[in-house]
Amino acid sequence: MTEVERKRGAAPAPTSWEYAPAPEARDIVTLRERYGHFVGGEWLEPKETYATISPASEEQLAEIGQATPEEVDLAVRAARDAFDNGWAQIPPSERAKYLFRIARILQERSREFAVLESLNGGKPSKESRDVDLPLSAAHFFYYAGWADKLEYAFPNRTPRPVGVAGQIIPWNFPLLMLAWKIAPALACGNTVVLKPAETTPLTALLFCDVVRQAELPPGVVNIVTGDGRTGGALVTHEDVDKIAFTGSTDVGKAIQRELAGTAKKLTLELGGKAANVIFDDAALDQAVEGIVNGIYFNQGHVCCAGSRLLVQESIYEPLISKLKRRLTTLRVGDPLDKNTDIGAINSRQQLDKIEELVQSGRDEGAEIYQPPCRVPEKGYWFAPTVFTNVAQSYRIAQEEIFGPVLSVLTFRTPDEAVEKANNTMYGLSAGVWTEKGSRILWMAERLRAGVVWANTYNRFDPSSPFGGYRESGFGREGGRHGLEPYLEFE
Ligand code: NAP
Ligand code: MG
Repeated sequence: MTEVERKRGAAPAPTSWEYAPAPEARDIVTLRERYGHFVGGEWLEPKETYATISPASEEQLAEIGQATPEEVDLAVRAARDAFDNGWAQIPPSERAKYLFRIARILQERSREFAVLESLNGGKPSKESRDVDLPLSAAHFFYYAGWADKLEYAFPNRTPRPVGVAGQIIPWNFPLLMLAWKIAPALACGNTVVLKPAETTPLTALLFCDVVRQAELPPGVVNIVTGDGRTGGALVTHEDVDKIAFTGSTDVGKAIQRELAGTAKKLTLELGGKAANVIFDDAALDQAVEGIVNGIYFNQGHVCCAGSRLLVQESIYEPLISKLKRRLTTLRVGDPLDKNTDIGAINSRQQLDKIEELVQSGRDEGAEIYQPPCRVPEKGYWFAPTVFTNVAQSYRIAQEEIFGPVLSVLTFRTPDEAVEKANNTMYGLSAGVWTEKGSRILWMAERLRAGVVWANTYNRFDPSSPFGGYRESGFGREGGRHGLEPYLEFE
């Protein structure tokens, strides 16, 4: 029974709100026991395999291929054949048709994909359903529109496809990152070999089904699964013309070293440590929602997460107390429950990394706050966390945690806010909250970040380019800019 509080003179009200379970029907997804690599439109029986699990329950979901260099080679050959034998030559409006088809099929099968994404990756199903899937389909729709208009996108420059693109993506937005990679590559007339992250291969493998359903010519899209070794084999393969990588800064640097001196084109989308800056004239309740969305969305597994909160000193107390209060209402638990706000941490390895950095925050002297929350016994979980009393030199203010952990710093003047916001090796994104339009523009000019959100956070649209400065990488994805890395010009 719900406990009821009876304040004198007021109507009885429950002291806490319990939500009834609202689980997604898991049976919309049919899993195979074992998956191979998708090469030349066929399933290739893998030589080696590993198990992929659900991070919320640790149950095994399927056996997945661990592609060897020979298997990667087969995939690259298939992509080369498809490129040489038709894909690059067919009328661009035909290429567009395939992309439109893929977009529509993703919309039609969105529930199936959303459930699978949450099952394999741990993110709340309401996020897969309302963010990952709509944005993935939107990306294909958007780039389908460009396929036959490349000459208008780059007038007088005679754009031509690059050839075979090797694409390597991380585990935080598995299908969405696939869409960001495959849609522009195909629109420009390239063929691809894509490697999903080791822990989240399942939606990429289900996507192969979409590719067949759309009757895309065999070999235009090839998917090889496996860990970093498979990625390494793709990077060093002689017949790959371009590498597109999204992942950690360390691996990005290693790839850049590897490719130095070769003719391969490269784009890197790497990490971030974004500042979310709240001025004293901001609408505080709205800002609190933006802060929560900025750092707790997708368990904080977001490269552009607003992981450093910069608060103007005069509003520090009310803002932090509102934020803490809001945190107590976040529901942590089963990703397949539609009421869940914070799902499972993607892997044991990622949980260890978060725990290690959080411990360093305590050791260095920051003050930790976590709302009380019960989490399931099995699986990988981490409560939403706020650190106050953080100095800029602390590791939790410098390093990317990639978890639901916020570090709060303060400032007095706009100049100080800019100094502190830019005091990082990264430069992917930032947020500004203020009532004054002129201040937004003033800040946006000075913040060294690829994206600056104003009075909102984590907003995405396929027409808007995304990418970093400094150690957050180079190259842009999305928008007309996102076509350029997949083209050569005469
Ligand atoms: P990661 O370890 O760098 O992995 C990214 C991808 O590269 C995975 O598919 C990974 O395989 C593969 N890989 C690992 N070692 C490789 C190597 N030596 N050569 C080629 N490929 C290799 O990063 P992660 O831990 O999956 O993802 C988290 C990081 O990605 C964070 O730092 C985050 O900021 C960044 N990220 C950036 C963006 C952006 O758009 N800027 C978006 C999302 C994530 P395994 O899965 O086997 O490791
Ligand atoms: Mg990794």
